[in-house]
Amino acid sequence: MSIKFEKIINGIYIDPIIFTAKFVKTCDVCVCSGECCYYGVYIDKNEYDLIMSIKDRVINACDDSQTKDSTRWFEAPEVDTDFQSGIAVGTEVYNQKCVFLDKQGFCILQKIAIEDKEFKWKYKPLYCILFPLVIFEGALTIDDEHIDRMHYCSLKHNQTTTMFEHSREELRYFFGEKAFEELLQYRDHYLIKISKESGVEIEK
Ligand code: SF4
Ligand code: SF4
Repeated sequence: MSIKFEKIINGIYIDPIIFTAKFVKTCDVCVCSGECCYYGVYIDKNEYDLIMSIKDRVINACDDSQTKDSTRWFEAPEVDTDFQSGIAVGTEVYNQKCVFLDKQGFCILQKIAIEDKEFKWKYKPLYCILFPLVIFEGALTIDDEHIDRMHYCSLKHNQTTTMFEHSREELRYFFGEKAFEELLQYRDHYLIKISKESGVEIEK
């Protein structure tokens, strides 16, 4: 990314487009079938290790639209400095969807955590938690490319809130309470600034 942004929180640049770009208020897999999970995802090698540490639990949770053969769950690891460990691993697509998506459109990694009374995102890859936001070249921004593939949440008439509001819980989790408050203050400061500049009040 050639343009860097003015604000950095926890070492991450903040692209202020997240405060104004629109998105659906909440995800509803009954409507969208979880289509953002149809393409698989690149995850950190550490996330791969965590998932493989509960391999038998995952096998038990797979339904008949998924493969219980764990050798078919992931692509070969590759070097990628965008990931914390320096190694990325792609999840495979099986039956036209990520191997971890069940036939009802739910991620079984999240289902397992909830069923086992663990934190709901314990096993879920960070990319999946943050989407429609993404960390790209050190900046928190919106994942335009992937959003454009969607048939429900990409449609303007379904987008009734901002990316930031849609992703509040995820951002609070990602940044932690203190840094999230800083992000919130930056959002308010940024919206006041652009409202003054444009003479039009920008809604939160
Ligand atoms: S991001 Fe879009 S496709 Fe994915 S679960 Fe939410 S509404 Fe559905
Ligand atoms: S790991 Fe889960 S949330 Fe991520 S793409 Fe696969 S099914 Fe979707």
